[in-house]
Amino acid sequence: MLFKLELIINKILLDLIPKTEKNVKKGNKIFGGIILDKKNYSTVVTGVNNELINPLFHGEISTINNFFKIKKKINPKDCIFISSHEPCSLCLSAITWSGFDNFIYLYPYEDTNLKFQIPHDLKILDQVFKVKKGQYNNNNYYWKSYSIIKEISKLSKKKQNFLNNKITIINEKYKELSELYQKNKKNNKIPLN
Ligand SMILES: [Zn+2]
Repeated sequence: MLFKLELIINKILLDLIPKTEKNVKKGNKIFGGIILDKKNYSTVVTGVNNELINPLFHGEISTINNFFKIKKKINPKDCIFISSHEPCSLCLSAITWSGFDNFIYLYPYEDTNLKFQIPHDLKILDQVFKVKKGQYNNNNYYWKSYSIIKEISKLSKKKQNFLNNKITIINEKYKELSELYQKNKKNNKIPLN
């Protein structure tokens, strides 16, 4: 699948991050998702982590819940699923059960673990499923997954530079959001915080 990466990156920067910021200020994690129409890249829904209400309300789950609230039914196969961070085992399953045939994420598990100090994605895959180092099957019967960073690396040097400048801005935003979450997390009641 070929992606219009600039549009995807702009949606994260201009749409997802402001919504994420609101929920992080309440004490939620930094994760979120966007569902786009494959044809014209219009936003179908967004969603952000809301674990303070329910520990299952991960960014992707909130996004999927919003998607199935829409009155006019849209085929998930006509959509692109964007995730700020590589989806955890819960969200991998939720994306699968919901009928999406793809997802594309910005930060891989290693970043969630090291940069963002949230080790549970890798730990659950290892402890529950015996999947080492997050090596799930990323091209399977149900879907294919993509990394925004890897997709950028396939472009011309000029385009790479242009998009990586935007990624730098996004990285700074998520760094701030993460620091805010980490500072406040000792006070929250999220089981795996
Ligand atoms: Zn998740």
